[in-house]
Amino acid sequence: MDAQPTASHFVDGAYCEDGAGATIECVFAATGDVIARLHSATPAIVDKALSSAKRAQKEWTGFAPVERGRVLRRAADILRERNRELSELETLDTGKPLQETLVADAASGADALEYFAGLAATITGETMPLGGDFVYTLREPLGVCVGIGAWNYPTQIACWKAAPALACGNAMVFKPSEVTPLCALKLAEIFIEAGAPAGLFNVVQGYGDVGAALATDPRTDKVSLTGSVPTGRKVYAGAADGIRHVTMELGGKSPLIVFEDADIENAVSAAINGNFYSTGQICSNGTRVFVHNDIEAHFVSRLVERTKTAKIGDPRDEETQLGPLISKAQREKVLNYIEMAKAEGATLAYGGGVPDGLADTGCYIEPTIFTGVTDEMTVACEEVFGPVLSILTFSDECEVIARANDTPFGLAAGVFTRDLTRAHRVVAALEAGTCWINTYNLTPVEAPFGGVKLSGVGRENSKAAIEHYSQIKSVYVAMGDVEAPY
Ligand code: NDP
Repeated sequence: MDAQPTASHFVDGAYCEDGAGATIECVFAATGDVIARLHSATPAIVDKALSSAKRAQKEWTGFAPVERGRVLRRAADILRERNRELSELETLDTGKPLQETLVADAASGADALEYFAGLAATITGETMPLGGDFVYTLREPLGVCVGIGAWNYPTQIACWKAAPALACGNAMVFKPSEVTPLCALKLAEIFIEAGAPAGLFNVVQGYGDVGAALATDPRTDKVSLTGSVPTGRKVYAGAADGIRHVTMELGGKSPLIVFEDADIENAVSAAINGNFYSTGQICSNGTRVFVHNDIEAHFVSRLVERTKTAKIGDPRDEETQLGPLISKAQREKVLNYIEMAKAEGATLAYGGGVPDGLADTGCYIEPTIFTGVTDEMTVACEEVFGPVLSILTFSDECEVIARANDTPFGLAAGVFTRDLTRAHRVVAALEAGTCWINTYNLTPVEAPFGGVKLSGVGRENSKAAIEHYSQIKSVYVAMGDVEAPY
């Protein structure tokens, strides 16, 4: 597959280029080969994208909501028809195994488009009778929304932002991470094919400066970022200047709590999925696995046994279960966390290095398991964003809740127990935006997704996303004379 796009940006319904922008090399993480060369957006491209979005948004509000829904629904259908091709591109863009991308990326994007297509015509106001006079509300779009994406799920992130934004009547300018510039361009093509007006969904490439220019432009009404907490702080501050709406989907250090009565095989499966899927590059991962003292030995032995069987290799091979990390820089960062964990006294139970035979090609790293991790160790406090699982032990419910909450993050949490009452009690006490009972990391479009504390503001997916992409206008209607004191 030739990964080189027609041009770097997709603006006002067509591909466009401005060779004056800094070069972006898109590297296939499994081989280190440059698979595409693009340019960062110049101020002229940013200007064109925002102006066309502003114009297209006015046009889009002229579409009946049911027609808007139809466009999104057609886009969902096209994504599904092209799943194989889009998945192959996602694999080249990110290095994630085809085994994952075939089911998790365009598929999840299509679900979001289909879901919000169905909601589009139901986004309405309400009427409040006042005994003669009355008030009605209109639920209106915000205007031009800027989406800024991280590199782990380029198709999914673009769809999760575009679907509710467009369903509510907004336009969007999306900036992918410069590490994964390819997939969002395909989505922009698909929206045009599905009947969206030119300029409704634009993609501009660039580094952080392009994101900052978009987020602070007076034409921008809302910014939705998926990224790290430090970037979140900057983007939030930039948006504050113009009192713009924001959605912040940021990082996490989520707990996965396994009680002594848990089904151990299921809990091990969840720990594997919640730490090693996408080579650990998932914001909601349950990287602090709290295991009850009584079952720790059994849990760790099954976890290690099963992790040993993971097939690591070329992500284009459908048998591969674990691909490389996104970049050499990310691998260095993760290896550094592994060294710190060892130095701070954690016990390496499995992995910890580069897999045999894969040192010289790509950005591979072994799935890594540490036992004997304590709360204050760096690996238990900071987001690693790689396949590094930490086992911490506990003996008491109150103790584990307090320790699970003792983090500035609050994205997600999981509980494994057969005691239904305890499951609900613990979940109620956990400071996290998304919780799972007896599973982990499932994020269907029907469920709100987002974090508390430093992990974010606002929610993606579900009906809750409508609140974050629309605003209410309140209209008072007088049915009688206007009384005045003089
Ligand atoms: P970054 O925060 O580094 O970047 C996110 C995006 O913001 C990129 O497109 C980046 O551009 C852009 N950006 C950087 N600086 C600025 C700025 N000053 N103004 C505007 N935009 C800017 O995140 P990563 O791409 O490294 O992704 C990993 C992080 O994302 C992790 O912390 C992870 O937890 C989080 N994440 C959160 C998710 C959630 O839903 N809560 C889901 C997935 C990831 P560029 O790449 O060009 O620098």
